[in-house]
Amino acid sequence: MNIRNVRVLGGEPVDIRIAGGVIAEIGPGVAGPDAVDGEGAIALPGLVDLHTHLREPGREDAETVQTGTQSAARGGYTAVHAMANTSPVADTAGVVEQVWRLGREFAHCDVHPVGAVTVGLEGKQLAELGAMADSAARVRVFSDDGKCVDDAVLMRRALEYVKAFDGVVAQHAQEPRLTAGAQMNEGVISGRLGLTGWPAVAEEAIIARDCLLAAHVGSRLHVCHVSTAGSVEIIRWAKSKGWNITAEVTPHHLLLTDDLVEESPVGAYNPIYKVNPPLRTRADVEALRAALADGTIDIVATDHAPHPVEDKETEWSAAAMGMVGLETALSVVQEAMVETGLLDWAGVAQRMSVTPARIGRLPGQGRPLEAGAPANITLYDPTVRTKVDPSAFASKSRNTPYEGMTLPGRVVATFLRGRPTVLEGKLV
Ligand SMILES: [Zn+2]
Repeated sequence: MNIRNVRVLGGEPVDIRIAGGVIAEIGPGVAGPDAVDGEGAIALPGLVDLHTHLREPGREDAETVQTGTQSAARGGYTAVHAMANTSPVADTAGVVEQVWRLGREFAHCDVHPVGAVTVGLEGKQLAELGAMADSAARVRVFSDDGKCVDDAVLMRRALEYVKAFDGVVAQHAQEPRLTAGAQMNEGVISGRLGLTGWPAVAEEAIIARDCLLAAHVGSRLHVCHVSTAGSVEIIRWAKSKGWNITAEVTPHHLLLTDDLVEESPVGAYNPIYKVNPPLRTRADVEALRAALADGTIDIVATDHAPHPVEDKETEWSAAAMGMVGLETALSVVQEAMVETGLLDWAGVAQRMSVTPARIGRLPGQGRPLEAGAPANITLYDPTVRTKVDPSAFASKSRNTPYEGMTLPGRVVATFLRGRPTVLEGKLV
């Protein structure tokens, strides 16, 4: 299927000719009359998410590989990394192969399982990292996400171990004792609301330690969902040393702040804003945006965390933490980074496709749109503004903080190796 009249990274209108799942030619008039009409949409390399919770196996009431990847395709993604905190935990070759097979059978984008760092995410004993790396799933990203690998000796061993197969440890940086019972960002508002605070230092202390450990053993560290200005400073310092460290920020941490817990369009104490790490202050948001723009933070990752209604629509203290994000990510990034002049579309492509694919070691994804590259393509119309309607989501869950908000842009089409998964905004 060929595509006509698109603007690669926002440039001049061209056509894309596709043959055998690969881009054969890009240029004016190469597509022919029966091509899909891109109507001047921006063409980006298919988006790649390094941090998705697909919930299967174990919580199919929240999401499945099928619905989660439908949600991903609708958001313009052609590959996702499926986090390991499933039930059973993805801590053996058997479980990661099960998720990988579900991906091959049911998915609307590529699914790359993340392997747990420790057995059962319990932080006591290293999981079989080598067996997962050697399995059919060829795992390269390892994470206990949802929990922090807080034992420094285990973290050191994991960093050493993954070097053998060019893997990376993706750390959920949260010092557990500093965040026992924490409910929201520690600050003026948590004090006023009487909610146990989640101090920035709980994130920053682990990031500093892990940067030092990664440098000490000469390994690759990835920092999940950076949320504070102090974390940015530490990562900037670590990168200035030439250490092999990458970092991600979520769309919600680029847009939303902790005062929404006190006052919002959906009232006070609405658990839709409860997330791990918590929403922080306006100053943190400004620091995260600047860091994403200058490359201190390498990528945007969604931390798509679906939860069924009964786990979210309850009192604040009992509610589950997390937000869905795949179907709104590009719009939120446009709002926070493009509309503010901090990034152009080439910059967005780098941070949402090229670099996440490089960190995850996915050779068939995140390739610049040019002849010879796999035809993984997202078509995006940035000119429209629409109200977010969760009832239209492909995800099984609806826990979005953007309900009723007007956001820019719309994914028009997504192509996975030349095959459309979304056309005219709808699943194929
Ligand atoms: Zn996490």
